[in-house]
Amino acid sequence: MANCGLCERDRELVEYVVEPKDEKILICKECEGKLKEPQESENYWHCLNDTMWTQEKPIQVVIYRVFSKLGWQDKLDMMYLEDDVLEWAKSGENEEKINVRDSNGNILNGGDSVTIIKDLNVKGAGFTAKQGTTVKNIKLVADDPTHIKGKVNGVEIFILSKFVKKV
Ligand SMILES: [Zn+2]
Repeated sequence: MANCGLCERDRELVEYVVEPKDEKILICKECEGKLKEPQESENYWHCLNDTMWTQEKPIQVVIYRVFSKLGWQDKLDMMYLEDDVLEWAKSGENEEKINVRDSNGNILNGGDSVTIIKDLNVKGAGFTAKQGTTVKNIKLVADDPTHIKGKVNGVEIFILSKFVKKV
């Protein structure tokens, strides 16, 4: 009944978490194994030629990451991912290497809400982000676990992750 979300073959399926979110997809063990080093089995991934048209966002993210690692730019161009899906696909690339943590050591993910724990001067923006301000729907910064991005006073700013607390 259920087939692998990637290769569509009818096989024993396992849950695969599409980080940095906590969303899971069901894929076969062969796909799961090959996802660790997609470059090692380039021919195998032609199995994504049909599933790349899925409307399932977590699957789109995984396929995007595979194509990205393989350098299949023409396929990436064809996928037309919505902005939030694209951001998700890209954020995971960094999340695997480094965790972004708040002042209490809690791991921060894109989409989290945080509170600023001290007044922060925002360079170039001409205002102070006040202690206690809640910043919703934060974004992670590629290759930089010391900062997050979020909107304060309607302006997207960089904030040191050590000066925020997860809500
Ligand atoms: Zn599969």
